Amino acid sequence: MLNAEHAEHDCGICSIIASCRKGTLADWIAELPRSWLTLGDAQFYRGYCVLLAKRHVTELHAMPRAEAHELLDEILAVGRTLDQVLKPLKLNYECLGNQEPHVHWHIFPRYADDPMKLAPVWVRPEAERKVSLGESDRIQLIAAIRSELVRRMPTARIR
Ligand SMILES: [Zn+2]
Repeated sequence: MLNAEHAEHDCGICSIIASCRKGTLADWIAELPRSWLTLGDAQFYRGYCVLLAKRHVTELHAMPRAEAHELLDEILAVGRTLDQVLKPLKLNYECLGNQEPHVHWHIFPRYADDPMKLAPVWVRPEAERKVSLGESDRIQLIAAIRSELVRRMPTARIR
């Protein structure tokens, strides 16, 4: 069994968190008490976000209970924020961790005009999913998410 330090060293999510801490991640949105929020790389689903738990744990149930509840409150705040900003048909929340063994949540807005709206997002070919936004669009979207998120969760750090 890997010790915690070794696991974190090899963890892709911990690497992204290190970039968040350094301020070098272009898609960084906010720091919440228990998590980091970033814009995801599959903007076919406009507003797709990834919420990264600060603690390196492989399973949600491995987290101390109070901490998990605080994390779930942050997911609620992000979900309400995305619903308000983007008005999707549906939000999909996924906590998988099969590829990166560190608790993180994919939050996908789903839209009425998606012909595959009844299917999981992963059914869509990666090349179609992994669409980038134009620079000014991306900056505006991040600003809109930050503005709504900090209204709902004043402890969010957005700069
Ligand atoms: Zn990690």
